[in-house]
Amino acid sequence: MKDFSKSKSLFERAKHFIPGGVNSPVRAFRAVGGNPLFMKRAKGAFLYDEDGNEFIDLINSWGPMILGHAHPAVEEAVKEALATSPSFGAPTAREVEMAELICSIIPSVEKVRMVNSGTEATMSAIRVARGYTGRDKIIKMEGCYHGHGDSFLIAAGSGAMTFGTPDSPGVTKGTAKDTLIAPFNDMRAMEKLVEENHGEVAAIILEPVVGNMGCVAPQPGYLQGLCALCDKHKILLIFDEVMTGFRLALGGAQELYSIKPDLTTLGKIIGGGLPVGAYGGRREIMEAVSPAGPIYQAGTLSGNPLAMAAGLAMLKELKNNPSVYHQINTATSAIVGGIRQQLFKKGLNYTVNQVGSMFTLFFTDQIVIDFDTAKTSDTLQFAKYFQSMLQQGIYMAPSQYEAMFVSAAIDDEAVGRVLKASELALKSL
Ligand code: PMP
Repeated sequence: MKDFSKSKSLFERAKHFIPGGVNSPVRAFRAVGGNPLFMKRAKGAFLYDEDGNEFIDLINSWGPMILGHAHPAVEEAVKEALATSPSFGAPTAREVEMAELICSIIPSVEKVRMVNSGTEATMSAIRVARGYTGRDKIIKMEGCYHGHGDSFLIAAGSGAMTFGTPDSPGVTKGTAKDTLIAPFNDMRAMEKLVEENHGEVAAIILEPVVGNMGCVAPQPGYLQGLCALCDKHKILLIFDEVMTGFRLALGGAQELYSIKPDLTTLGKIIGGGLPVGAYGGRREIMEAVSPAGPIYQAGTLSGNPLAMAAGLAMLKELKNNPSVYHQINTATSAIVGGIRQQLFKKGLNYTVNQVGSMFTLFFTDQIVIDFDTAKTSDTLQFAKYFQSMLQQGIYMAPSQYEAMFVSAAIDDEAVGRVLKASELALKSL
């Protein structure tokens, strides 16, 4: 058994002064039992905790470390930026470069505003959609997570789903009534909802490939159908690409599925690990944002020099090395293919969903296409599998309802180690 005693005592201390001992709920390991691990350092494919244990990282800071941890180009860029100043509260050249780079990579984004988190990005995008259309209601998908903004904590995924609180106390009835919920991948239900609220819906927001109920792909034609429906009813289509942007392809899920949403939200990935978010889209919509237009949105640390430096370094690496996508997708397919074989050998009919370098092993024999089917998973079996993987040095997301993210630092040897651990973990069920 691994020694987690330092993490354990840090958690005990943390619980006195931090709600639940963590600064973001999923980290608490509640869904899988045991103590959360307190991390000390990371390099490439590996994480090292306070007790000195080594783990192959399949979370990668919930997505952003596409190149692996502590990539030299990112580290160098941050050091250089730190030497000038970590914050000016004034415009900088890096912000211009970042905006130009994002707009050149994602054609649907003609103008972009930097913020500090994915939550800020989605909250701001919704305000812009409401301000621009003059309509109040939004439609979100059951089980999608868009950060902790009030409008989104209705049937929310990720930690909210894990903790059984998809509708959070503290969200007013007024706010809740303006958020309509549709099942993911169900075009008929969406058409009905839009008809019933004719002329009142400002935006449909979704994760084009869902990560936050576990990895769930859009069914063929679904995203195209949403796009056409939005055009017909003058509803803005918002792709929340906080997880998928620059990961599923350089231009995100919208490049992969050839869709041009009206607005796009981006997050942690464009900070290379530092706290960042952004929202952008069609020029005429973004022109409505202050100070160009009347819709107010601001941020003291927005466009922060360190975050811009880290993000620029990472995006340039990705842009200059398109083979990265082949590499991470191939490594993910090797892991997923191997797990499927192991399941088959054991006579288990569990579902493994994969899109590019995102995947989830669902402990259910149902095909997982939405929130209802994701919820058929046996979370106790997941917890056992998780704990066995952890003991064998594989760090997975501590909840059934999350996606794994594979980085370019995961080489053949690491894939082999993941599969060896998985075989034993499945045996232990
Ligand atoms: N949107 C999506 C799709 C996310 O996955 C997340 C966070 N995982 C957010 C928004 C919120 O981002 P943040 O945690 O940076 O506020």
